[in-house]
Amino acid sequence: MENRKKSYKSKKALKMVCAGVCSLLFVAAGVWGGKYYYDKNHDPLGQENITMMAHFEKDVETHTPVSSAKKQTVYMANNEREAIALPAIDPTAPEVPEVPEVTVEEPVTYPLDRSVPYEKGYEVAGVSLDGLTGYQAKYPGLYAKKQEIVAPAEKTIYLTFDDGPSANTDVVLDELDKYGVKATFFVYPGSKNLSSVKTRLLEIAKRGHNIAIHTWTHNYQQVYQSVDAFLADMDKVARLIYETTGIRPCVYRFPGGTTNTRAKNVNRAILDEMERRGFACFDWNSSTQDAEGKSFTGTQLADNAIKSFSGKNRVIVLAHDGGGQKQTPYSIGKIVVTAKKQGFSFGVLDNSCADMLFIKR
Ligand SMILES: [Zn+2]
Repeated sequence: MENRKKSYKSKKALKMVCAGVCSLLFVAAGVWGGKYYYDKNHDPLGQENITMMAHFEKDVETHTPVSSAKKQTVYMANNEREAIALPAIDPTAPEVPEVPEVTVEEPVTYPLDRSVPYEKGYEVAGVSLDGLTGYQAKYPGLYAKKQEIVAPAEKTIYLTFDDGPSANTDVVLDELDKYGVKATFFVYPGSKNLSSVKTRLLEIAKRGHNIAIHTWTHNYQQVYQSVDAFLADMDKVARLIYETTGIRPCVYRFPGGTTNTRAKNVNRAILDEMERRGFACFDWNSSTQDAEGKSFTGTQLADNAIKSFSGKNRVIVLAHDGGGQKQTPYSIGKIVVTAKKQGFSFGVLDNSCADMLFIKR
């Protein structure tokens, strides 16, 4: 009798424990589901015209996994989202477009004068450091001489190359020369052989292109940790560019673009501070899609970029000259020939160009 009572009691207790665990699981599933639904449908930046695209643990710019990232959602502009669709390939298009007549410009001798130490950047820019505190008082070399914003010619296109310099840069430079256009190189010297990086920075400068800052590292956790961390990284790249070529850079680009989720707590403060320092920032509105791990030919990469040209007066093309983008150099010819046929002229980005950003300011 006693035993039966006991077993009845323990069965009841077991049932209650089961019921408790089940309801906890049910509540947890509800909370997780609700959070998932909310994250999927709400833009934390509260912007219009920014369409969300879920790229879990991926870099929106290179579409490669972000190191040590937790699940995250990346927000992209509508135009960039459209650029992800596969291109319509014209099978009759020649693989190698015709090479146009190219005018050779006066050579500039590099390195330029580097006798003013890098740290005197603020003086060169005509800025006073009086009264500045915190990160604003740091990195005195990280300044660019402000320029008036000049409206570009009707229909201007800017070729930009991120993540170099690498051996691929050499081929990119030859192709650019062949088709007679200048470009902007957003350099990323981290984890590369520095002596090769310096040789190539000089070569980019010698061939008349502009050198801009990407970042020293693509570790988002590190660079977007704080405004100070971002500035420290920019300062390192700016110093390398100046001490190698004599160019004080005046343009930069956020790894992953300005609306990258990793940057969302600091992006506006970074833009304000870099603007105070004289720098212009650029995202892009056309992409070769050369860093998505797909094996596009040069012609296909060109088509990816070209399909975003229509209806635009100002096009900034995203391409990469990192070590992995072996086909990218061979997209240049078709991009140049097509853009010229469509009435575009080619420009180089500097801080006299108005910003083009995903983020609304
Ligand atoms: Zn990059």
